[in-house]
Amino acid sequence: MNKQLWLGVVGVVVGCFALPAAQAQFGDKPSKLSLVKVQDDLYVIHNDAVPGNTTALITNQGVILVDDKFEIDHDNIIAMLKTVTTQPVKYVINTHFHGDHSGGNAKMQAGGTLAVASAQARERMVAGKMSGLPDITIAPRGALYLGGKTAEIYWLGRSHTDGDVVVLFPQNRTIAMGDMYTNGEGTPQLIDYAGGGSAKEWTATVENALKLDFDTVVPGHGNVVKKADLVKFRDSTKHLTELITQEVKANKSKADVEATMRKEFGWQDFHVQMALDGLIKEMH
Ligand SMILES: [Zn+2]
Repeated sequence: MNKQLWLGVVGVVVGCFALPAAQAQFGDKPSKLSLVKVQDDLYVIHNDAVPGNTTALITNQGVILVDDKFEIDHDNIIAMLKTVTTQPVKYVINTHFHGDHSGGNAKMQAGGTLAVASAQARERMVAGKMSGLPDITIAPRGALYLGGKTAEIYWLGRSHTDGDVVVLFPQNRTIAMGDMYTNGEGTPQLIDYAGGGSAKEWTATVENALKLDFDTVVPGHGNVVKKADLVKFRDSTKHLTELITQEVKANKSKADVEATMRKEFGWQDFHVQMALDGLIKEMH
């Protein structure tokens, strides 16, 4: 990918989380990774500075990954997996098109891995001239069966973008949410309007995810939590929609809405830049 397009993709990705100004070059150097064991056959690979997550289900016929970070993180992901399995990565599921979740695809594919995403996410990758286009799309649901284990993939509606999927590992009672749910300081809810995101529909989409049967939740960014935490997040998305709808109806200024988003929902400069106009427009 040429540099300009790459920077365009990074520009989108930067919006996924709160990024200190000093890290404006995010994606240009490898993140420091750490391995979190969730269960005997299920691991999460965290980043250091910006805690983006790759989830790995280990089977005796190969590994299923959810999200593969930036291309520059590929070798470190593979090295980390080698500490827990000799199996190759058979599939990587991209929860959405952003480069910090799909950037490793091309290198994975070169190693024989098949990439899977929603049809919408693939279309956005095509439009953005991103590398590593998914080999398989699902609409609205699909499943991978490998080594007696299952990864169920669900598109449940719009949220962070219009193409986010969640991945349920039924045997593990665990769900990987991508950026439909980001958890913790520095990872406020970001609505990527240019990527088809919607604050209004977000609550119903999370509600659909909550209907699935699981206990453990892997967020797109942040620490692994329990289903009750996702319920709280669902409530906060509802609160956001209600509060901002009220403010817009009361003809509050753009500055007032911005202040609310910063104070109540942890938005920082680039969240405001990326999503404030879209949010006000959507709540009208
Ligand atoms: Zn994202």
